[in-house]
Amino acid sequence: MTLQSFGVIGLAVMGENIALNVERNGFPIAVYNRSREKTDAFMANRAGGRNVKAAFTLEEFVASLERPRKILVMVQAGKPVDAVIQQLKPLLQEGDIIIDGGNSWFEDTERRTQELEPTGLRYIGMGVSGGEEGALNGPSLMPGGTKSSYEYLSPIFNKIAAQVDDGPCVTYIGPGGSGHYVKMVHNGIEYGDMQLIAEAYDLLKNVGGLSAAQLHQVFAEWNKTDELNSFLIEITANIFPYVDPETTIPLVDLIVDAAGQKGTGRWTVQTALELGVAIPTITAAVNSRILSSIRDERIAASKQLTGPVPTQFKDTRTFVNMVRDALYCSKICSYAQGMALISSASTAYNWGLNLGEMARIWKGGCIIRAGFLNKIKKAFDENPGLPNLLLAPEFKQTILDRQAAWREIIVTAAKMGIPVPAFSASLDYFDSYRRARLPQNLTQAQRDYFGAHTYKRIDKEGTFHTEWVPISETQK
Ligand code: NAP
Repeated sequence: MTLQSFGVIGLAVMGENIALNVERNGFPIAVYNRSREKTDAFMANRAGGRNVKAAFTLEEFVASLERPRKILVMVQAGKPVDAVIQQLKPLLQEGDIIIDGGNSWFEDTERRTQELEPTGLRYIGMGVSGGEEGALNGPSLMPGGTKSSYEYLSPIFNKIAAQVDDGPCVTYIGPGGSGHYVKMVHNGIEYGDMQLIAEAYDLLKNVGGLSAAQLHQVFAEWNKTDELNSFLIEITANIFPYVDPETTIPLVDLIVDAAGQKGTGRWTVQTALELGVAIPTITAAVNSRILSSIRDERIAASKQLTGPVPTQFKDTRTFVNMVRDALYCSKICSYAQGMALISSASTAYNWGLNLGEMARIWKGGCIIRAGFLNKIKKAFDENPGLPNLLLAPEFKQTILDRQAAWREIIVTAAKMGIPVPAFSASLDYFDSYRRARLPQNLTQAQRDYFGAHTYKRIDKEGTFHTEWVPISETQK
């Protein structure tokens, strides 16, 4: 019997598309899904004429693969991954490689690696981005694990990944759970981008007074610019012209304003807090989804709590350009935060991550793909030790040129009662980062006052404590 080169377990949206991508690139595949119906449907509808072997037991699946076996697990993250590994383990042999391509929590990946590698099996935790379309035609791949295992798989990864001007959108990320960590932060950045776009839309619609057709035009125009050209801006432009055939109302206006989330944004915020890295734009994006989801409560509150009623900005063209500048400056801050988080994780976990490479592999295939990533890659290539993206010459200049508009938009939004949490969080991040002196001297005094936590002084070495007592009027 001829053996297949690559195996895929899990034939939901991602698994079936990535399986077809691998096969199309010249690697005969074997597939297995826990429920037989998905395998039957896949074979009947999508695998015709292709070099695919369907297996209906894991024993049959494992036996159909050439050694060392290369098995991609594309099942729901969490317990299902452990369940599949436990079932596979007794069937595999030394050197076989399990690749977890789901959105696994990076600490689970670390644990699984530590459990499996001493038994002679090899384990790769790989972030996959790009959704259904990317999985089929070329995703961005973020594989982490032992480098020799990655090198063994790289001929396949290089072929199935999205291809951009400077190579396939895959690189060796680093050891252990680093691939899943980087994918998680990618998703956090995606949350930030989507929230920033939502805020720009809110302002353009409710202060700029733009119709759906005009919104389409503005986003389509922005998508042609060097700075904002991206998949998310492109799909945003494409959303506005959709009209509901029954009501003839733009479809976007009929969609319930409560955003879902699967957890990778929340994880990004949690790990940032644990590492002590400030990512306020991404945190604002997660909070905005949370607030959006308490829709009934908001509707009730809207009948009781009053605020300013937005009025239309007179010069539409100027307003649109100011929103564009605010969006771009905020986006720079959001990526600065995401990159700072990856950099801190790399130090904390000793991963040795190359930030320029992260920007490069996100240029194609994934949801945050954008021309702007070229500028980030360039910034880290020029200075791999860059402490923060805001200090890269190009971004420094951009913010200098546009911050007046950015500030004006946030002031306008506040006056009109339009929430812009991610725009504001980004500006606060910028202003905090650029200030040599922040008001936390007072915080330190308070901490020392109530808790004897001590403080340091700007004029002397050492640690100090003061017996703070109210100073009476006469002593002042
Ligand atoms: P999914 O809905 O997350 O998972 C469904 C698959 O998991 C089915 O094949 C299901 O098998 C299998 N499964 C669930 N529990 C199992 C268990 N205990 N044992 C064996 N198999 C089990 O599928 P998906 O959307 O294709 O995503 C797969 C992974 O990729 C997830 O980690 C997801 O977060 C990640 N991801 C998804 C996207 C996306 O756009 N959807 C993008 C990037 C990454 P049955 O058919 O038997 O139920």
